[in-house]
Amino acid sequence: MLIESTPYSLQNKIRSLKARSCTVGFVPTMGALHEGHLSLIETSIQKTDKTVVSIFVNPTQFGKNEDFDQYPRQLENDLLILQNFNIDILFTPTHDDIYPHSLKERIQVKDPILSKLYCGVTRPQFLDGVLGVVLRLFNIVMPDKAFFGEKDYQQLIGIQKMAKDLFLSTEIVGCPIIREKNGLAMSSRNAYLSKQERQEAAIIYQGLCFARKLLDMEETDSQKIIEKVSEFITKDSMIRIDYIAIVDPNTLKLKRQASKDDRILFAGYLNQTRLIDNLAL
Ligand code: AMP
Repeated sequence: MLIESTPYSLQNKIRSLKARSCTVGFVPTMGALHEGHLSLIETSIQKTDKTVVSIFVNPTQFGKNEDFDQYPRQLENDLLILQNFNIDILFTPTHDDIYPHSLKERIQVKDPILSKLYCGVTRPQFLDGVLGVVLRLFNIVMPDKAFFGEKDYQQLIGIQKMAKDLFLSTEIVGCPIIREKNGLAMSSRNAYLSKQERQEAAIIYQGLCFARKLLDMEETDSQKIIEKVSEFITKDSMIRIDYIAIVDPNTLKLKRQASKDDRILFAGYLNQTRLIDNLAL
């Protein structure tokens, strides 16, 4: 595994791989790697000739009062984990590498609609921050395919939309959510949770499964499903719901009448920790 931290040097390496007709797969991450990240890496290794992983905690997707400073950074441990995988290049740029102008002067990518919905209500900077960094990373890595988790469903759909809208030549591949045994979706932010909180947070997945069950029992009124799921999740837990929405899985448009094809999205807080999850109905 080659460790590369400068964009131009990485671009040269990628060009020489492409000159040898290798296809390039890319898995962007913010590190503190867990099995969710590793499943994306495994898929990239299966589907492409060479796999590039990046670790970069992107400042522009965090709000002023969010956890940018506390976000877990454990590069040494990540390196140990990655050594067991057959990846080709690890890209670990600095802020100045990714944003050669100051953050204030940077060129920005904006989705005027999607970035204001769902997670965008409480985190208005999030999606545009992600789109900006992903576009930069794509221009450096020039991947044929890039792998993103369905865990961050709004992010996945936003990136797919950007790829289409800006005629990017990278195929965006969505990959299933990897969960703990108790159903809690794996996340680097789970490191903020105590053992007891991790148990408590399992109710989120159970709540989403309950929505599926309600639909199986022919309840199709989204509002009623959401009310019942909210009650299910909050009844015996300290979880505070930010939003629950039933949406079209491709456009993320709200669905008044739920159907099997839709997706239920959840965001909430357990004490100070923000947790998100979603499920295909
Ligand atoms: P992050 O490091 O949190 O920015 O995540 C990097 C990538 O890993 C994103 O595409 C995430 O959607 C994906 N990811 C994070 N957690 C999971 C999970 N539990 N299952 C599948 N993919 C995940």
